[in-house]
Amino acid sequence: MNNLKILNKRCYLWVPKIPPETWSRSHFTGRAMSDVLTNNMCECFNSKLVDGRDKPIITLLEYIREYVMMKIVNVLKVIDRSSGLLTPYTTQMMESVKKQASKYTLHWNGEDHYQVTGPNGDQCVVNMTTNTCACRRWEITGIPCRHVVAMYSYKVYPINGMSIWPTSQVPIQITAPKFKKQIGRPKKSRKNSTAEREDGGSRKKSKVDAKGKRKVVEGEV
Ligand SMILES: [Zn+2]
Repeated sequence: MNNLKILNKRCYLWVPKIPPETWSRSHFTGRAMSDVLTNNMCECFNSKLVDGRDKPIITLLEYIREYVMMKIVNVLKVIDRSSGLLTPYTTQMMESVKKQASKYTLHWNGEDHYQVTGPNGDQCVVNMTTNTCACRRWEITGIPCRHVVAMYSYKVYPINGMSIWPTSQVPIQITAPKFKKQIGRPKKSRKNSTAEREDGGSRKKSKVDAKGKRKVVEGEV
């Protein structure tokens, strides 16, 4: 509001007369569970009606009915093409949120609050009982924000010491493998196959690349 006051004083005086729950995220309720701005939706709808707007009322209503009918069919086609529980848009959004969340750390207060801290001084309190975050995105859109996602990483849980592990009931005794010490120092380099030896100078070696695929490297020993 202070920034607005600098920009335009008349606007600064006019805005508070409108109930803040209609224009400020800090006052929105979580009832709608949507991040869509009504204004954007109206503009999109209006632009679709350009050709029907100057028609008589019944023709206009028919135009709108047909448009809505086709729109719903299009949405059903998108659902058919999608896999998983989320829509393609939300899946994409969640992927981006997950990337952001990897840069965050969290501290538990011992009860149901977590302090989640990330880059650029971004720090929010997440309440796991009320399912809310201070940034309010989770509450307003229903989609977990980066602060909430930061808490959902996989964890490795601690275990007790071996002395109190339960004894296995499997009737097999595992004994140590037989070991025979070989003469001399064990060889480190791999023996070339017959084909490699016949190939002469350009020996080939298979190597696992970054993607886990095995590839053949020319001329490498
Ligand atoms: Zn948040």
